[in-house]
Amino acid sequence: MAEHNFDVVILGGGSGGYAAALRSAQLGLSVALIERDKLGGTCLHRGCIPTKALLHSAEVADVTRDAAAFGIQATLQGIDMPAVNKYRDGIVDKLFKGLTGLVSSKAITVVSGEGRMTAQKSITVNGEVYTGKNLVLATGSFSRTLPGLEIGGRVITSEHALQLDFVPSKVIVLGGGVIGVEFASIWKSFGTDVTIIEGLPTLVPNEDASVSKAMERAFRKRGINFKTGVRFQGVQQSATGVVATLENGEQFDGELMLVAVGRGPNTAGFGYEENGVKMDRGYVLTNERLQTSVDGVYAAGDIVPGLQLAHRGFQQGIFIAEDIAGLRPAPIDELGIPKVTYSEPEIASVGLTEAKAAETYGQDNISVYEYNLGGNGKSQILGTAGFVKLIRRNNGPIIGIHMIGSRVGEQIGEAQLIVNWEAFPEEVASLVHAHPTMNEALGEAHLALAGKPLHAHA
Ligand SMILES: Cc1cc2nc3c(=O)[nH]c(=O)nc-3n(C[C@H](O)[C@H](O)[C@H](O)COP(=O)(O)OP(=O)(O)OC[C@H]3O[C@@H](n4cnc5c(N)ncnc54)[C@H](O)[C@@H]3O)c2cc1C
Repeated sequence: MAEHNFDVVILGGGSGGYAAALRSAQLGLSVALIERDKLGGTCLHRGCIPTKALLHSAEVADVTRDAAAFGIQATLQGIDMPAVNKYRDGIVDKLFKGLTGLVSSKAITVVSGEGRMTAQKSITVNGEVYTGKNLVLATGSFSRTLPGLEIGGRVITSEHALQLDFVPSKVIVLGGGVIGVEFASIWKSFGTDVTIIEGLPTLVPNEDASVSKAMERAFRKRGINFKTGVRFQGVQQSATGVVATLENGEQFDGELMLVAVGRGPNTAGFGYEENGVKMDRGYVLTNERLQTSVDGVYAAGDIVPGLQLAHRGFQQGIFIAEDIAGLRPAPIDELGIPKVTYSEPEIASVGLTEAKAAETYGQDNISVYEYNLGGNGKSQILGTAGFVKLIRRNNGPIIGIHMIGSRVGEQIGEAQLIVNWEAFPEEVASLVHAHPTMNEALGEAHLALAGKPLHAHA
């Protein structure tokens, strides 16, 4: 059996793994990157990118359907799903080629095949042993289901949903979190009759309560049905459809049911625990430096408890490489990680929700301001509703920003700088925001919270 030695051996070539590989190579470390499928992982092939391409096609469908409202004569004749998929796959292929080119231009040894941890510093792939002074575990996540709910036939996950070459007439979406609302939004725009079932009291339950409420209002207006606060009991499949039953006895039928109840860590059978890596319900436990319980073994991405987001994985990968290289990077502040839900409307948030801020600092010690997009010229041009909500510590910095409306995801860059740099509203208010942009709404909200509203009543 051949032995291969590196400074860093990385298991999994998704967002966390390939970021660790690229940064390690930049820092002059020798790197092996082991991937059993395609570099880029879930985000590039089955997650972020393909879903956002579908959402863009969905937006084009909506704009065409509503064209007359803007004085344009156009008719939406239909959705050519194979052509939509071709457009989506073209984007993924182009990015995949770019990524493989980037990785192969660096001193990174890419190993194809499924790896298994066989010693504290070794991964075995196809009978070859890859030993690292350091290991990085980054094997990602899979679509979860509920106990007793079998995936198959007309009961599908997001992976299957992305493979459909037709627009379903009627769909039940089980789960009103990020992935559930994104698919609900896409299908509704394509003409599907959609019903979301969410056991918690609101849609997007991890967001600020006012954002969840606004999302429900927007979805109701779009004709997306949803049932919240009642648990799913079971589903029956027939040759033509599915019938989902809730614990209160209510039933919903559809052509398909999408199960979008979260993602679990992909760690089973890879030898982690056998080699001393401490785990909790399948997740790999790390300290704030992303080191596991085994010296020199790190973990990144969705297998580490916390937000399952690609940009968190990228940042963790970069952090680990820098830690290995002895640069002593500052630990990543999980609260400062921006989140975007890319439906129509979009949600973008960073920092504490109002409830969390009140719990942390006391309701009397925070101030909250909501700027309605009704006062923002560009939002009116686009015909979107929504708001920018700011939370500050009294006489202190902004600690939470929550936005809802078309395209607000594009505003998250400034929002995350404000929260992470602990800016005061007075400081942001002195910066000029271009007119007419949706970004101006963020400026207006800070002007108002600084006590000098311009296009706002309070
Ligand atoms: C539908 C959907 C939409 C999403 N949209 C967004 C979004 O818009 N924005 C966002 O930030 N996040 C989004 N995500 C989440 C994002 O995709 C993940 O957070 C991200 O991919 C996690 O990166 P990772 O490196 O931990 O794992 P992954 O990307 O899953 O990569 C893990 C890699 O490891 C490989 N692997 C696993 N086991 C082995 C083994 N034993 N040997 C060799 N290789 C192995 C896998 O093949 C895979 O390529 C979305 C996810 C889904 C499902």
